[in-house]
Amino acid sequence: MKDRFERQINYMRISVTDRCNLRCFYCRGVHDFSFIAHEEILTYEEILRLVRLALQLGINRFRLTGGEPLVRKGIEHLVQEINSLDEVRDLSLTTNGVLLLNYLEKLKAAGLKRLNVSLDSLQPEKFKKITGFNKLQNVLEAIVRAVDLGFEPVKINVVLLKGINDEIENLLRLAYELPVHLRFIELMEFSPVDGYFVSGKKIYEQLAQKYKLEPVAVAGSGPARNYYRIKGMKGSFGFILPYSDHFCGSCNRLRLSADGKLQTCLFSNETTDLKGPLRGGATDEDILQLIKSALAKTSKLAGKLWTGQEKWPAWDRRIGWEGS
Ligand code: SAM
Repeated sequence: MKDRFERQINYMRISVTDRCNLRCFYCRGVHDFSFIAHEEILTYEEILRLVRLALQLGINRFRLTGGEPLVRKGIEHLVQEINSLDEVRDLSLTTNGVLLLNYLEKLKAAGLKRLNVSLDSLQPEKFKKITGFNKLQNVLEAIVRAVDLGFEPVKINVVLLKGINDEIENLLRLAYELPVHLRFIELMEFSPVDGYFVSGKKIYEQLAQKYKLEPVAVAGSGPARNYYRIKGMKGSFGFILPYSDHFCGSCNRLRLSADGKLQTCLFSNETTDLKGPLRGGATDEDILQLIKSALAKTSKLAGKLWTGQEKWPAWDRRIGWEGS
């Protein structure tokens, strides 16, 4: 399935809940406890129906996310159901890792092979400052066990936060000690806080000056286009640079919110409601049409950013904070 910019769309991120067991200050804000009512959240049956329909459009790679996907009961059953569909090429899950240790065996038995774990600091007090909870140990134990159980790749998402987790080389220790792939991510505009942006490109340049970076291939690379290894590393690291290096041109994804809204571009608030039609008796053909027309309408902004006709609105300001 192609969107209006002729990009091949084959990947869907499915948020299974908006609830989370951490309160990362840069994500939705520490005081935001406004959650979607349970009855507004798509049921697993509704999600599965959409997955089957997406497959008909050639969307065959899926990621389960949230909120925190592991706080939703029975997530392993959804994993198993999706995984059992023949046409599914790839299924992965993004988690903060807090509950992961207890889920690893169930997820593996359900057929999950890949994992992304979010972890912004290896210092317990920093971890608590960022997330509001003292759970670093749980996350680390889960990462080590995931590797032992053979999940591959295990990717570690690190959001770069100025003045908070300026510990890049400390974080890189994970990739020396374990075959995991770190992804340093630039803080995105939808954060409720200002003043924490760090340019990932600068971090890359600093590392490249100090070390010999050897490019490596990592399965399902997504927006982190390049991964590197420093001599002695078992794993690798890469960068997701929505500001320093737009990745719109290679974007292949749709996002489905927990309450059934389809978003074709992360940088646009335009969404298409699928829950109403799903619950209102829409036929499969109706829903397919809705997905197709959402793709046909993909925000003009995405195309302009991608072709360089327009700069991301906060681009100059963000880079300005870095003084370059
Ligand atoms: N709870 C799961 C987790 O922590 O991985 C899945 C959802 S969480 C929203 C997905 C990822 O988005 C996490 O890696 C988080 O750090 C990242 N994230 C949240 N807000 C962000 C922002 N403003 N900029 C960049 N990344 C952000």
